[in-house]
Amino acid sequence: RFTTLSVPPADEAFAVNGAYLADTSPDKVNLGIGVYRTDEGRPWPLRVVERAENQLHEEHDAARHEYLAIRGDVEFLDLARDLVFASAGDKEGSDDRIASVQTVSGTGANRLGADFLAQHLRPGRVWIPEPTWSNHHAIWTFAGVARGTYPYYDVAGKCFDWVRTAQTLNEQASPGDVVVLHACAHNPTGADPSKEQWEKFAALCQAKGLIPFFDLAYQGFASGSVEEDSWAIRHFFHYQPQLEFFVAQSFSKNFGLYGQRAGALHVVTSSAGLSTGVSQAVLANLCSLVRGEYSMAPRRGSEIVKTVLRSPDMRRQWHEDLQLMSGRIKAMRQALYDRLVALQTPGTWEHILSQIGMFSYTGLSENQVFAITQRHHVYLLKSGRISISGLNESNVDYVARAIDDVVRT
Ligand code: PMP
Repeated sequence: RFTTLSVPPADEAFAVNGAYLADTSPDKVNLGIGVYRTDEGRPWPLRVVERAENQLHEEHDAARHEYLAIRGDVEFLDLARDLVFASAGDKEGSDDRIASVQTVSGTGANRLGADFLAQHLRPGRVWIPEPTWSNHHAIWTFAGVARGTYPYYDVAGKCFDWVRTAQTLNEQASPGDVVVLHACAHNPTGADPSKEQWEKFAALCQAKGLIPFFDLAYQGFASGSVEEDSWAIRHFFHYQPQLEFFVAQSFSKNFGLYGQRAGALHVVTSSAGLSTGVSQAVLANLCSLVRGEYSMAPRRGSEIVKTVLRSPDMRRQWHEDLQLMSGRIKAMRQALYDRLVALQTPGTWEHILSQIGMFSYTGLSENQVFAITQRHHVYLLKSGRISISGLNESNVDYVARAIDDVVRT
């Protein structure tokens, strides 16, 4: 029966991680997988997460292993929504246009949104940035929506390519098509649109009748500021009360809760549907999809996020933890840049400093990536993407020399 099965390719980030773990060289460096590491190269449970865990442990709530509602934990969802949609001075995100459900982290939010669109709006096509987080392709393929790509990255300029993006979408996209957008810290390039470009993007989506689908996996982790990293989403929200869009929110990186699978999907509906209860209808349909897929999201991670976000004091501490993580990453960008410049490594390296978030798109070719792994036991994706957080004071010199070697030969 199963003899006809072909073997799909392994997910690259996890395959590279496996190859790194199997390597016995004492010099090996893991710049593959997108997880935060300390300067000692170790995982880091956020201090505020440990505090919240201790508090939850002391509370010893007898209901702590009960089922959540199908929709998820409502207080968590309100806090999660406000984190994205509320701006300074205005504490709560407007909720009457937004339907929110708890998901199996960011991946689950992307998938639930894709399934919802596929079932109910049947978009002709989803436009995915090229390059992107590779799972976007898998998610939309499994949801059964035809895919197109838009040329996100200007290889020569090492930046977001607004001109070709706008041209592609203007010429080829049709009303009702979906556009996947990385809200901040684009994975894998680390190159984001400027605020002016986001403004043009919102106008384009509105004019063409496209449905924006934001993937928000790095809020607060990218710049260190929760507000700054969700600016684009708030712009779309206030730009046009008729604009309908999706936000897939992950707490994996900004709370370091990778394995706990905490996240949410927010669907912003048009203000025109307020009187007829459109957002409630969206919510009910999302809940019925959730029920048929996995009944409800897990509760441990969302419990931790809720405990932190509902307490002003813990929230302050969370911001400090975010700044510590994003600060270390920025320091490592600088350290790698300084060493490459000191070595006079051929090429320009300013993009390592200007890119934002966990990743840097180094510009190394596939052959150079192969060579650096073979010769120097440095692991990264074949696109040349490195996870900056795998760098530390003890290995950055070694990595710079390894890059220098493969660039010269
Ligand atoms: N989107 C992007 C762009 C990501 O980089 C990631 C994490 N690698 C995710 C979504 C989802 O991660 P998770 O499912 O752990 O929330």
